[in-house]
Amino acid sequence: MKTTPGPVTRFHNLDSKSEWTIAEADEIYQVSRWGEGYFSINEKGDLTVTPNRTQNGPVINMMEVVEEMKNKGIAFPAVIRFHDILRSQVALLNKTFRALIEEANYRGSYSGVYPIKVNQMREVVEEIVDAGAPYNYGLEAGSKPELIAALAMNTNQNSLTVVNGYKDRDLLRLALLGIQLGRKVIVVVEKYSELTDLMQLSQEIGVEPLIGLRAKIATKSSGKWASSGGDYAKFGLTITEILQAVRYMKSIDKLHCVKLFHFHIGSQIPDLRTIKDSINEGARIYAKLYKEGAKLEYFDVGGGVGVNYDGTRSNSPSSINYTTRDYVADVVYILKQVCDLEDVPHPNIVSESGRAITAHHSCVITNVFGALEIGANTNFNTDKVVSENILVSNMRELSNDLTEKNYQDVYNDATKLKEESISAFKFGILSLEERAKLETIYWAICKRIVTHASKDEYAPDEILQLKSQMASQYLCNFSVFQSAPDTWAIGQILPALPIHKLNERPTELCTLIDITCDSDGKLDTFLSADGPTNTMPLHKLTGEDYYIGLFMTGAYQDIMGDNHNCFGRLNEVHIFADDDDPTDFYIEEVIFGNKASTVLSSLQYNPETMAQTLKATIDTQVKRGKIRPREGVDLTDFYEACLKSYTYLKK
Ligand SMILES: *Cc1c(COP(=O)(O)O)cnc(C)c1O
Repeated sequence: MKTTPGPVTRFHNLDSKSEWTIAEADEIYQVSRWGEGYFSINEKGDLTVTPNRTQNGPVINMMEVVEEMKNKGIAFPAVIRFHDILRSQVALLNKTFRALIEEANYRGSYSGVYPIKVNQMREVVEEIVDAGAPYNYGLEAGSKPELIAALAMNTNQNSLTVVNGYKDRDLLRLALLGIQLGRKVIVVVEKYSELTDLMQLSQEIGVEPLIGLRAKIATKSSGKWASSGGDYAKFGLTITEILQAVRYMKSIDKLHCVKLFHFHIGSQIPDLRTIKDSINEGARIYAKLYKEGAKLEYFDVGGGVGVNYDGTRSNSPSSINYTTRDYVADVVYILKQVCDLEDVPHPNIVSESGRAITAHHSCVITNVFGALEIGANTNFNTDKVVSENILVSNMRELSNDLTEKNYQDVYNDATKLKEESISAFKFGILSLEERAKLETIYWAICKRIVTHASKDEYAPDEILQLKSQMASQYLCNFSVFQSAPDTWAIGQILPALPIHKLNERPTELCTLIDITCDSDGKLDTFLSADGPTNTMPLHKLTGEDYYIGLFMTGAYQDIMGDNHNCFGRLNEVHIFADDDDPTDFYIEEVIFGNKASTVLSSLQYNPETMAQTLKATIDTQVKRGKIRPREGVDLTDFYEACLKSYTYLKK
């Protein structure tokens, strides 16, 4: 489902004569707003990354990373991961909880878990586990394969492994296996029958489980994941079921196994008020259950902490109106207040933030391949000829009449004339040559109208619409469906901008199109200082390399992308900061993306057989004398080389 693109906004005057500054580039692309101190623009006009956000710490120039990748022969599009950003985000969340717990004299501790569904890539999970070790930061799994991974990755006996999602007997058995390994694996009951299944299994094998109860709380979020909360949510127990669960566990004398209370009201929660409400409601439920005899040790507030994709720091669906500290302060203080009022112990706090931990750490760099521009081919001869059709002559006259003052009238007349010309063409009155002339003149008129309108503060909406319709479409070497699925599926805005040339004024209004054969394969909603807009200013293409970065793709995008049109996974590099290196970084790992043969194999093709079939056909053509033998060998080699090559366009 594609949501409608952003409204037309009155745009920066792109052909202003004043001197261009880096501050203006920052204003257009809002880097310092969404960048959260990780991203900025240097005086050379390159995008830089400050992965530790420390003064005098390493600063990595994205273009130096790109240069090094080029030297290593790594083709674009490519994913760049900054492992230090992951580490910084893990530290930020854990340190903030510790600080506020101390400040508030809260008597429980914090043991967060990273939900691996947000980005299950082994290197990502490993880095998070490693950075989280000092804080006993654990993992959350939501499926059997994820728990299989979590059991192998989370070897710290003091950190939690929380298991959410629907469960079969094997998944429950795996969780109990974790207990047998000495790990703190907590099975969160999403559905009542899971509890009875679990207790039966536990009795069969003689291992006591650690149990969490997930509640469908009444507090609902706004934004794109609102349906995760409320009575009709997909997961969790109703209040009635929770009470029944507690009474059942009491009746079999196992209530001591119930350790954790859980809720999760959806992802990317835009408004802090929703979070406050949910903590309040959850805390009351926890307190009442405690008084029912369930001596719960953990209070799990789920995930949902959003990120500021569009830089507005508002409660818009692509933003959040709070900081990490605001969020943590509300969790700690509200929980403390309710527990004190209810006179129950302060539970240990668990949270399951995924998006907020991983979104910033990775980006996709694509190279622009070319542009589609309506009416760009202006060297078509439109000169007047004898006995020319009157419609063409009229269009030429309109072109001669156009001024800064009358552009609206000319636009109306020219558009009407163009419509009439189509009818005339269908009646056979207008020749192909004449139609081409008329349309060439029409688009040239429109271009001039747009230029006039850019200088006019009161330009009518219709003309602003024309301006964005005539925007150049920059053809980018990537697939939206592989690298930014949420922009297509739910209209999420992701920051996009050139990673160099930011010291030059961008002169072209553009949208971005990808290389899939799908008209939805495009980016046409961008952030701006005035809210979402449907075009973005970019630099004129000169034939030199031009790189556009798509940022904050580390949460979900990386992992949910698909192989539409057989475009497979991207090449990727893992960057580590290194203060002792002249460039402040080194490439720690290169992971090559899918080859054509890999993608085809996953769809049941057999690349070897295909190559053999092709070779056999070429041999037949050689025998028939249609292809020369030497050429036949080259063609066979070429087909095989293509099978082994990257799925994206080669430069
Ligand atoms: C998806 C999910 C999360 C992670 O949510 P974020 O919005 O990425 O923080 C946490 N807990 C549960 C139960 C989830 O399903």
